[in-house]
Amino acid sequence: AHSIVILLFVTRLVSAIGKSKPWTDFLPPNLLSLDFSERIRTDSLAIESASSDYGNIVHENPAAVLYPSSTQDIVSLIKFAYNNSAPFTVSARGRSHSVFGQAMAPNGVVVDMMHLRSHREQNGVIVSKNPSLGFYADVGGEQLWIDVLKATLEHGLAPVSWTDYLYLTVGGTLSNAGISGQSFRYGPQISNVYEMDVVTGKGELVTCSAHKNSELFYAVLGGLGQFGIITRARIGIEPAPKRVKWVRVLYSDFSAFTKDQERLISINGRKQSNALDYVEGSLLMNQGPPNNWRSSFFPSSDIPRIMSIVTQHGIIYCLEVAKYYDDTTQHSVAKELQQMYKGLSFIPGFKLEKDVSYVEFLDRVRNGELKLQSQGLWDVPHPWLNLFLPKSRISDFNSGVFRDIVLKRNITTGPVLIYPMNRNKWDDRTSAVIPDEEVFYTVGFLHSSGFDDWQKYDDQNKELLKFCEKAGIKVKQYFPHDKSKEEWINHFGSKWRTFRERKALFDPKMMLSPGQRIFN
Ligand code: FAD
Repeated sequence: AHSIVILLFVTRLVSAIGKSKPWTDFLPPNLLSLDFSERIRTDSLAIESASSDYGNIVHENPAAVLYPSSTQDIVSLIKFAYNNSAPFTVSARGRSHSVFGQAMAPNGVVVDMMHLRSHREQNGVIVSKNPSLGFYADVGGEQLWIDVLKATLEHGLAPVSWTDYLYLTVGGTLSNAGISGQSFRYGPQISNVYEMDVVTGKGELVTCSAHKNSELFYAVLGGLGQFGIITRARIGIEPAPKRVKWVRVLYSDFSAFTKDQERLISINGRKQSNALDYVEGSLLMNQGPPNNWRSSFFPSSDIPRIMSIVTQHGIIYCLEVAKYYDDTTQHSVAKELQQMYKGLSFIPGFKLEKDVSYVEFLDRVRNGELKLQSQGLWDVPHPWLNLFLPKSRISDFNSGVFRDIVLKRNITTGPVLIYPMNRNKWDDRTSAVIPDEEVFYTVGFLHSSGFDDWQKYDDQNKELLKFCEKAGIKVKQYFPHDKSKEEWINHFGSKWRTFRERKALFDPKMMLSPGQRIFN
């Protein structure tokens, strides 16, 4: 697999060098006479590095890449593009862990945000406190969440809302939503931001919050990079727990599984001590091993008996919860979990518990990543599909999609996630789009494929979207892509008008994040 990846890289490099036109065909030559021009590269290595993403399906060459050493470099670039007689496109590239080219800028300029990390004061994460907000961290938009975690933990503090995987940038996840098992209680990451610095599509650096320049603030949160580049976010942080009880229980009955998930997320007050800290879920099927890159949870001694019920039922539903604790709550946590188990209808004997450190829990995906990387299997195509679904139709989705399409197609799946969230933890003023029901589910098909067979996964994704459309299940895509204008309008629904108006206000020349293919 290693040699395939290397071969692919070399082939692309050769083709990039061979095919690409000179950058001056797309960008004004005086770009390189500006005071920040030494940080702009147009050579083939730079171009190649910005022309792919985690998805490894879409490949688009920019004409140039900016390696900024300050926010001012980004301001200067966008101002120059905006004032140029032929404006060019600009895309912030965080960790480039999008899956369908969303952070690319075909023939435009990619801003390599991660380059800023080595130029920031105090490593780009500054912890403070004030009377109205309590503790907060000012974090560079280019920072990885793992670094935010490490820096805030030095003060015994941490953000409360996470993604499953921490090697993503703050700007990248805030441009989508940033969800994980904590979202039911703390909201997505975009619900935990107090303030941001944003470089708009006019090249203006604007500080915005719910009280100041609020239109820009809400536009940018979940805004798919369309309104500005986030260079700083002020994020709420709280005292961090030390340890985590991490539990998985298994179900053969879908409605028992979802009933339990929904009951668990209904206890969701921020200060409610009997609330869980994390609720997720996933499918176990013959098409994939119970342990995968997302987390290696099940002890190998339990795998045979787990696989035996998977074979018996076709699909087993795995509820995953976590309860944090520290020195003061270590005596009550076991009792609270015992209480919780009594109310759950999982298959007797299929409760597996782990006790891990807080960091081990939050960073649980990293080990799987490193293992796949060492096998050359991390950089394969990823035809992912992530959805939000109304609770009222989740059972139809189970029978029509999981049981019918996925089981019947019988292709090896990656992790399939399914867990509910509470709409009231989301702010409707943001650009993020979710279903119109108080409780909704996220379902993620996180496929990895070979280089020549990603299409069959994409076909399955399309088939299940078609099924939902026919069955009248109003799904919203998380990380939407590949949409016609009409489909985008449909995706945003009642938010489309505001989205378009905000675009006209903050990026009137439609230069930003063209890889999302909404306006370009
Ligand atoms: P990029 O892919 O670099 O950028 C994404 C978009 O945001 C682009 O349009 C880009 O132009 C724009 N952008 C980037 N930086 C900025 C900025 N500073 N200002 C404005 N716009 C910007 N998501 C979840 O919510 N929960 C998860 O648990 C989760 N797990 C994941 C696990 C893996 C292994 C992977 C690959 C992805 C996962 N994601 C998850 C998806 C991830 O949140 C998004 O793909 C996110 O965009 C990745 O961040 P990034 O830094 O790589 O962004």
